[in-house]
Amino acid sequence: MTVRVRFAPSPTGMFHVGGARSALQNWIFAKQQGGVFVLRIEDTDAARNRPEWTEGILSALDWIGIARGSYEGPYFQSSYAGEHRAAAQRLYEGGRAYYCDCTREDVQARTGPQQRGYDGFCRDRGLEPGEGRALRFRTPDEGETVVVDLVRGEPTFENKLIEDFVIARGDGSPVFLLANVVDDMSMGITHVIRAEEHLPNTPKQQLLWDALGVKPPIWAHVPVVVNEKRQKLSKRRDKVALEAYRDEGYLADAMRNYLMLLGWAPSGDREIVPWSVIEEEFRLDEVNPSPAFFDEKKLRAFNGDYIRALPVEDFVEACRPWLTGTETIAPPPWQPDEFDPAAFAAVAPLAQTRIAVLSEIVPNVDFLFLADPLIDEAAWAKAMKEGAADLLDAAIVAFEALESWDAESLKATLEAVGAERGLKLGKAQAPVRVAVTGRTVGLPLFESLEVLGRDRTLTRLRVARVRLV
Ligand code: GLU
Repeated sequence: MTVRVRFAPSPTGMFHVGGARSALQNWIFAKQQGGVFVLRIEDTDAARNRPEWTEGILSALDWIGIARGSYEGPYFQSSYAGEHRAAAQRLYEGGRAYYCDCTREDVQARTGPQQRGYDGFCRDRGLEPGEGRALRFRTPDEGETVVVDLVRGEPTFENKLIEDFVIARGDGSPVFLLANVVDDMSMGITHVIRAEEHLPNTPKQQLLWDALGVKPPIWAHVPVVVNEKRQKLSKRRDKVALEAYRDEGYLADAMRNYLMLLGWAPSGDREIVPWSVIEEEFRLDEVNPSPAFFDEKKLRAFNGDYIRALPVEDFVEACRPWLTGTETIAPPPWQPDEFDPAAFAAVAPLAQTRIAVLSEIVPNVDFLFLADPLIDEAAWAKAMKEGAADLLDAAIVAFEALESWDAESLKATLEAVGAERGLKLGKAQAPVRVAVTGRTVGLPLFESLEVLGRDRTLTRLRVARVRLV
């Protein structure tokens, strides 16, 4: 039997990192089993779906290595509405479902507000289909439903505790629970790997598989992803969109490596490992069922490591979207014709060891491309204390006299200028750095001045000096 898995996102928002994690797990599992990965867009909630969210999912998947064209689909759930209705009809005709005209208030009036769920009032009323009548599944009164779950063992649910749940609404439209099962069935899905949130749906869905006469799949409910307060990551509160991480300058390799560590770890004491190792070593049955902490700080540190490991040419290439801007990344503060690739290449190795996400490249190098540096006023106030004017005067004179404009000479010169004033190099650097780059922190100063060149450096020092008058 060929293994067939599916990833079945609903296009109702940005693509959630937890979804990306499940997608990767499905992807690897399929690959390991020589199976097929199917992408199904669950777009039946017309009020909440938007085509751009679907496009966002496809491109985000592509970005983390699940490339368009390398999987089956995308299929769109909305195209199968006929099949969903036919299945509902079959269940009705086979006596496995019945029509119900109870309102929520009716049920509550009978059961009291405490009791949750449906009381089975219409089970044996033999109602015909009709406007406003929901179709409910007749759950078995006895026995239990045992879910075979690769992550959770065999969660067991007593059937008598499962209410007669709705499978089609009063307007005839089938609900998610049923549509999802019917699609899995017709797409020949053998393993359903999805988020833990769906575990409570699973006994109901398995009953539907049984009632429709098809052997249920093997399930794997992978852990919920939580923030540092152990709250489920939510799009209203947390940064959850994969696209946001991409546009901030996380590398796809770092991201997918990190995502796979949510609830699982490779052998040895390693966390940063090549994707090929993850593909080989990952085991669904080793996934820890407890909630997985999405640690943004750790991800950032990971990304920094990945950035440092790039060959410098690749780093230069990887920075490009932030140096030019794209549809989703804001353009840098300089004009395109102000950008100087050679100057960038000269400082790239210095930046590569210092940034953790690629978007940080911009504030590190903007001083090279802007006619005037963007002065951070707080940095200015901090650096331009007493003595700054005198130091800048002396630095200007000494720099003008330099024979060779190179980092080493610049450093020796400023060191001497500082020493004459009883200042350590760090203190002497601060006014120069702010005058030239606008900031108190950044790339190594003297290499920066070397690349910026004598004329532009001296001009900026003079402009700063005038401002101090
Ligand atoms: N469309 C569902 C969701 O996005 C997926 C359900 C499933 O994987 O079975 O949560």
